[in-house]
Amino acid sequence: MNFDESLEEAEIRAEIRTFLDANATLKTGTETDWSRGPVDDSEEAARAYMERCRSWQKVLHENGWAGITWPKAFGGRGDSAAVSVLFGQEASKYDVTAGFIAAVQSLVGPPIMRHGTAEQQARFLPGLLDGSVNWCQLFSEPGAGSDLAALSTRAVRDGDSFIVNGQKVWNTQAQFADWGILITRSDPDAPKHKGITFLLVDMKTPGIEVRPLVQATGQAHFNEVFFNDVVIPVENVVGEINEGWAVTRTVLSSEAGMIGSGAGGSNGFEGVLALARKYGRTNDHDIRLRLADAYARERMLQLLGLRMQSFILNGRGNPPDPSVMKNFMVQAAEKRYDLALALEGADGMLDKVDAPQNGFWQSVHMGQFGSRIGGGTNEVHRNMIAERALGLPRDVQPDKGLPWKDILKA
Ligand SMILES: Cc1cc2nc3c(=O)[nH]c(=O)nc-3n(C[C@H](O)[C@H](O)[C@H](O)COP(=O)(O)OP(=O)(O)OC[C@H]3O[C@@H](n4cnc5c(N)ncnc54)[C@H](O)[C@@H]3O)c2cc1C
Repeated sequence: MNFDESLEEAEIRAEIRTFLDANATLKTGTETDWSRGPVDDSEEAARAYMERCRSWQKVLHENGWAGITWPKAFGGRGDSAAVSVLFGQEASKYDVTAGFIAAVQSLVGPPIMRHGTAEQQARFLPGLLDGSVNWCQLFSEPGAGSDLAALSTRAVRDGDSFIVNGQKVWNTQAQFADWGILITRSDPDAPKHKGITFLLVDMKTPGIEVRPLVQATGQAHFNEVFFNDVVIPVENVVGEINEGWAVTRTVLSSEAGMIGSGAGGSNGFEGVLALARKYGRTNDHDIRLRLADAYARERMLQLLGLRMQSFILNGRGNPPDPSVMKNFMVQAAEKRYDLALALEGADGMLDKVDAPQNGFWQSVHMGQFGSRIGGGTNEVHRNMIAERALGLPRDVQPDKGLPWKDILKA
């Protein structure tokens, strides 16, 4: 591939740098960088971090850098994904992030743009773009995760409304959300992919209860959300009633597209190398092998990322399969974080408060388990590699074509 930048790309990069220099400061690579995440595990710290992310989104919006790939008709810049890649490369050097807002824009924007009514687009897209309205994704249930179409949260039509009852789980930032995208079972007699209705729900509606779930890291990143006779107007249906799976697929494909190379940064190779130096282990034979392994994996991920970028920037070459990227990224992180805790030795066993670097490595080590699951589990991505890339026979689907109500439930 050609690593040289075109004149046009260089001009855009310079424009991005000018904006960032005027509105942000460079990362220091230390604990003082707010963009690393909440300062501790408390709800106040999570809220303060979310507010900083919102402030940055406001700056992006005021300066015309929000929604780089969104069509101009919906308030975006109407630029290509290539400009987004360039912006991401430059912004990663500065102490800024839009955090979860960037994720929800990719999850909530496309279904409303593609399947929503003109009224829904006018009502919901501006607040999503400037970060003034917080959103969450209400998809997974205790009995429906990888097999999402098995969902059982019921929506029963009652005049101009649906009455919703059921439970969702693992809903990131639902405790701070103003609105949610919600998928419901509206026709139990239809096969599982039919009979689903996609709704937009005001999280302040009576009957919604949000219960934060505390993870092994000590943070409450996601929640359980209970629906008890929640009344949602029919005008909040996105797409057709009972045809919500098509809308859901728009969300899921955007989610898959968010999976990046994930290489580098303070939890990358440079971070573990610094740790090896700090603990005087760089002459240890076993540690040297593990450092070399961490370096090679990070480099391979960067090269896979470059292949992806080359495809996005120039439309050249074959982009790597996102499932391969996701699984490789997770495996590389797993080995790196194990190495970091091995380097810390007895310090690695300390509680977060007493551990080195404020428990930074303990936190990322615990957090890796979420990465193996979120955005599709490693096993499900391996199935996709088998079917999509290797052309192996499809997984068995014993419930195919059966009415949802007749499918055996756990
Ligand atoms: C960090 C994080 C953030 C999340 N945020 C949200 C959110 O905001 N909103 C939301 O709705 N959900 C969210 N989720 C939930 C996520 O989408 C689900 O956890 C995921 O889809 C897996 O579902 P599950 O947990 O029910 O596991 P299950 O689907 O029950 O899987 C259990 C085990 O079985 C394996 N398995 C399942 N099916 C197959 C198969 N066909 N072949 C081989 N193995 C299989 C899995 O790999 C896994 O090991 C989040 C999850 C995480 C970790």
